[in-house]
Amino acid sequence: MRLSDSPAPSYYAASAAGELAVRGTRAPLRGEVRADIGVVGGGIAGCSTALHLAKRGFRVVLLDARTVGYGASGRSGGQTIFGLAASQQALALQVGAADARRLFDLSIEALDLTQSLIREHRIDCDYRPNHLHVSTKPRQQKELEEWSTELRDQYGYQSIELVGREQLQAHVASERYWGGLLDTRSGHLHPLKYVLGLANAAERAGVEIFENSQVLRYAGGAAMDGTDIRVHTAEGVLTCKHLALCGNAYLGAVAPSLARRILGVGTYIIATDPLGESRARSLLPGNAAVADINWILDYYRLSADHRLLFGGRVSYSAVEPPRLAESLRRRMLRVFPSLADVKVAYAWGGYLDITMSRAPDFGRLADNVFYLQGFSGHGLALTALGGKLLAEAVAGTAERFDVFARIPHRDFPGGPVFRRPSLMLAMLYFRLRDLL
Ligand SMILES: Cc1cc2nc3c(=O)[nH]c(=O)nc-3n(C[C@H](O)[C@H](O)[C@H](O)COP(=O)(O)OP(=O)(O)OC[C@H]3O[C@@H](n4cnc5c(N)ncnc54)[C@H](O)[C@@H]3O)c2cc1C
Repeated sequence: MRLSDSPAPSYYAASAAGELAVRGTRAPLRGEVRADIGVVGGGIAGCSTALHLAKRGFRVVLLDARTVGYGASGRSGGQTIFGLAASQQALALQVGAADARRLFDLSIEALDLTQSLIREHRIDCDYRPNHLHVSTKPRQQKELEEWSTELRDQYGYQSIELVGREQLQAHVASERYWGGLLDTRSGHLHPLKYVLGLANAAERAGVEIFENSQVLRYAGGAAMDGTDIRVHTAEGVLTCKHLALCGNAYLGAVAPSLARRILGVGTYIIATDPLGESRARSLLPGNAAVADINWILDYYRLSADHRLLFGGRVSYSAVEPPRLAESLRRRMLRVFPSLADVKVAYAWGGYLDITMSRAPDFGRLADNVFYLQGFSGHGLALTALGGKLLAEAVAGTAERFDVFARIPHRDFPGGPVFRRPSLMLAMLYFRLRDLL
């Protein structure tokens, strides 16, 4: 994957330079190390899993191929949003109404957990409340109205407010939208500072973290027969009783059966030069994070130093789109034409791990090998909860983990050669639908 080979100079890495310098890079795994549980992946999912396991008294070792926050968690749009990437109707068809309701409630717990982790571990990551889904056409405003009714009446979610075209100006100073759905329980944060803070909290709880320690393969992990799992990196071996795979779209050959169920899709963000507080606030007076409801969506928010961070575009071909910054800038100007004089200071991207149904994929490859993947672009809050549920499952209470594990998943069709072309065709259809 090209993005993983060339870490983009993101705004997040630049603005977390202080935190990164204080911590420094952690040593790689060398020689033989033992633990109760090995965690693969230092994104939010892996760090939260490790933290929650350590809090339960387990001895935990976390391995990352690069550095903590290197993957999607340190690059994301920073929007903590209720629900899952799959719609509640789609989930209800797959798992039934009762589990769909449980999944929704767990997604709300994920929002609250994110905020409580920030508070409990004093993570300085610029968390701000408020999120808006916005419509770019009358048909979509009707969809938002129906969604609002469904969320209130069927799911009892009351922190939302439907906003009409006129009122929307108090939140987003743009002529592009027909209205929005404001949620005061969702919000936004600096994702790299957040995941670095979680890793520090995990270390304080006793987790050992090794960086530049790519897991090449593991052996064992067949059943509850007391057999140890041996996890191999280039320079060391970790022996453990349980393994948690939290490697997102980067995990690949370590677990081929998981890799077949997700596709790494590139998505991209630009950050403008600082706009100054009053100009920034004139664009987003309520400082909400915003996402439109198109399939190929625009998503944006203000940073703490008053830049606009604007995300959009996707790449299904594993190739970074040409002139990325310029094409995202054009999308930004469609929303805020008044920014024509503003320079783009940073552009970067990362991989989303999407599943066929867009529902997250949690489960077990063996009784003692767990995994979290498939957040499908909606993982900022849910990853932390996934880690907590995985820790519950290892400790013997798998009820809540299994609500997710019951969601059925299929391999992407077409095998390794044809799955990307067939998905690109499907995406072309959705792109056309956005235009109608
Ligand atoms: C540009 C972008 C914008 C996004 N915006 C949003 C948003 O606004 N809101 C939202 O909810 N979600 C968003 N997402 C999705 C969200 O960021 C992800 O769902 C979430 O961060 C996934 O976290 P993770 O811990 O599962 O994976 P990651 O953060 O990708 O972490 C996986 C880690 O595993 C390591 N790893 C992989 N394989 C191995 C191996 N073999 N050995 C050792 N280590 C390994 C990697 O180095 C990496 O550090 C966005 C994603 C991107 C890329």
